[in-house]
Amino acid sequence: MEKRMNGTLVSEILYDELRAFLELKGDKPLQLVDISVGNDFGGEMYANMKKKKLEKMVGYLVESRHFDSISYDDLVSEIESINNDNKINGVMLQLPLSKELNDHERKILDHIDWRKDVDGLTTSSIGRLVVGEVSLEPCTPKGIITLLKVYGVDLVGKNVVIVNRSNIVGKPLEQLFLRENATTTICHSKTKNLSEVCSCADIVVAAMNKQEMVDSSYVKDGAIVIDVGVHKNSEGKTVGDVKFDDVYDKSSLITPPTGGVGPMTICMLAYNTAKAKYGNEVDTVLEKAIEKAKVLVK
Ligand code: NAP
Repeated sequence: MEKRMNGTLVSEILYDELRAFLELKGDKPLQLVDISVGNDFGGEMYANMKKKKLEKMVGYLVESRHFDSISYDDLVSEIESINNDNKINGVMLQLPLSKELNDHERKILDHIDWRKDVDGLTTSSIGRLVVGEVSLEPCTPKGIITLLKVYGVDLVGKNVVIVNRSNIVGKPLEQLFLRENATTTICHSKTKNLSEVCSCADIVVAAMNKQEMVDSSYVKDGAIVIDVGVHKNSEGKTVGDVKFDDVYDKSSLITPPTGGVGPMTICMLAYNTAKAKYGNEVDTVLEKAIEKAKVLVK
């Protein structure tokens, strides 16, 4: 089996399965609203990329609602009108918000109805995930677990080190690993002897947003390495938080800086939107896609 994990291939299989499921349903296209405030160029680029992908791969209607500036009250009204609009299946709020709204980020997010919270970022979604109730799970963590399942990794009892404690990556990912009976350690910027901690792990997830920080000294022989970071190096090449060429030989499976975790994240957004509309029925779509992908990555 190729040890470079192919998130692009796996995502395409999931899109195919989702498309087939949606065609059978024969309903109108699913609708998502993407709200952004202020001028975050990186965020805008990512939002456009998501929109194009979801429209092309699963025929969703993705409406971007951009505000150069908006008051707290008006933004909350906007979110509440989306919550009450039956035609809209999911809503995303691009972070960071504008400077004026940043301090109210949590309060604003929590106005999103968790049933439409396709990024899984509200306190309700996170709480439901922790106690094991149905929720829409954050896309990057869900994508990582899906990729590991496709590559046949038995997570039971595995020692996992996640270098990140954000609400969107590290904390939900830990919950998903715990659900699979792995043993987890979360690291962050104040962790002592990080490379030593990582080098004891069966699975290392690098998401510290530090260009190529994880080299082979962080990785034990045969470990699985998941790279979440995305950077452009001085030559304009996309690199991750992991020094791919240095770590490759030691790893048993590894995600590349492009075509690894990134495409999984976006296709999980498509999955979450379908789940927002059709509920647990969509889980079988994911299971089917995993089984199909398992054969193709062998
Ligand atoms: P974030 O909120 O900035 O979190 C970064 C985390 O890394 C924090 O927990 C931070 O610790 C920790 N950290 C920073 N420097 C460290 C160091 N020197 N040693 C150990 N830990 C360190 O970022 P995020 O939103 O979670 O995203 C993380 C990365 O993933 C970013 O590069 C982002 O672009 C990328 N991302 C990629 C995808 C994808 O689909 N590929 C999706 C989402 C995010 P503290 O908590 O102590 O500050």
